[in-house]
Amino acid sequence: MMKKLLLLVILFCTTQSFGQKLNKLPESKIPAIETETHLRFIASDELMGRKTGEQGNLVAARYITEQFRLLGLKPAGGDSYMQLVPFKSTKPATEGSIVAGDSTLKILDDFIVFDGKSADMHNVPVVFANYGWIDGKGYDDYKDLDVKGKIVVIQLGTPDTKKPFEAIQASDAKAKFAADRGAVAVVEIFTAQIPWKNLLRFFTSESLRLASDKTESSIPHLWVNAARGGAFSKDKLKSLTMHTSEKKETNVVSYNVAGVLEGTDPVLKKEYIVLSAHFDHIGINRTNKTDSISNGARDNAFGVTAMLFAAKAFSQMCTKRSILFIGYTGEEIGLLGSKYYVEHPLVPLKQCVFNLNCDGAGYDDTSLLTTIGLSRTDAKAELETSAKAFGLKIIDDSAPEQNLFDRSDNVNFAAKGIPAPNFAPGMKTFGGEIMKYYHQTSDNPETIDFPYLHKYCQAYAYAARLIANRATPPKWIAGDKYEKAWNELFGGK
Ligand SMILES: [Zn+2]
Repeated sequence: MMKKLLLLVILFCTTQSFGQKLNKLPESKIPAIETETHLRFIASDELMGRKTGEQGNLVAARYITEQFRLLGLKPAGGDSYMQLVPFKSTKPATEGSIVAGDSTLKILDDFIVFDGKSADMHNVPVVFANYGWIDGKGYDDYKDLDVKGKIVVIQLGTPDTKKPFEAIQASDAKAKFAADRGAVAVVEIFTAQIPWKNLLRFFTSESLRLASDKTESSIPHLWVNAARGGAFSKDKLKSLTMHTSEKKETNVVSYNVAGVLEGTDPVLKKEYIVLSAHFDHIGINRTNKTDSISNGARDNAFGVTAMLFAAKAFSQMCTKRSILFIGYTGEEIGLLGSKYYVEHPLVPLKQCVFNLNCDGAGYDDTSLLTTIGLSRTDAKAELETSAKAFGLKIIDDSAPEQNLFDRSDNVNFAAKGIPAPNFAPGMKTFGGEIMKYYHQTSDNPETIDFPYLHKYCQAYAYAARLIANRATPPKWIAGDKYEKAWNELFGGK
């Protein structure tokens, strides 16, 4: 009897190990029509470009949720797969004027309300405060200045930087310096080498931010077109009169979607591999008359399909480690869904040992896969094996100058220390073939190579399976810029 039992056990184990053979894995068995239908739905016109907070975006979240339910995943957030992500939508003021001496400046043409409340001020005294900068090491533009109850006029930037991006970044802190000293408004002369009309397009359209992210400046903060800077002469200008309308702010709701498949190994199941992909996209481009919907078939219905495929494959044959699947909202507006997630994790980050995110701009070679950060962790071997298993070759980032590693959701996990490459379709060059579709209304499902999509999904799931079954979790390659954060999170283990 015992012998028979032993034989059974041996047989069973053998089957199990044979089961790991490629053609026995669900990755090989799930039919290609399933990946095609996921993509065709997520990238459909009916979802209207899945812009964060809009109806099509919510429908995409719902679709992922119901797929997770169907596959038997456990909701990561207790009783719901959906993690509420609160946003604020701001539409800047569009009415207003400034009277500076003999000049009258018109809102939009000559200035914008960058931040803060509306202004309603008559002949309020003006103080010029150079850059309005304080560096905490002795440099102080407010030394010897009394700005209480006055409007502070400053120029963009700091004594150390005039680079547009850095100068703009310093702007918030400068408004706070002025407010803390009792100023009633800040007028900043916008001297950066950015065409005013480009700036307008960017800052006057409706924008979304995380509700928790930034508290607005407590005083009106205006940027004046440098072309009108002459009206703000330090010698002549003694006071300003200005009025602006109120900006419009509304609450917008969207969701991340998160589900868990528990691992089979009693010890390793406490560790999680995170498989993620953003489902939001950029919505509708009304200036394009023939086709106004940015379907985002490549960016990122492709990645969502791979994540759903992996969820199905692992629900049919589990891995030793547990798997956390996350669909993110808000990627296209600044990686905000993943940012919110890592600040409000549903599984402790310490237990999340690896993240393989799926996102891409598109593909220009269907014999390839690209993994951004392929050589930055020691999961390279598994990624190479999985690509090869499905007849593909895997390459690292082919456009390092684009800094793609830090431009997708994986970076929010990486910055917390978790090794987190980004698994993308094959990209030889960030050039013509990619730009034909990247963030264009032409990124339609009809243009997708579906057999290639399927292979991408298979290789993704298989790589994740190999990694989830490893004896030890992957690490950063020594000296990586995120290694320090890794040491802090995992205590150097
Ligand atoms: Zn994307």
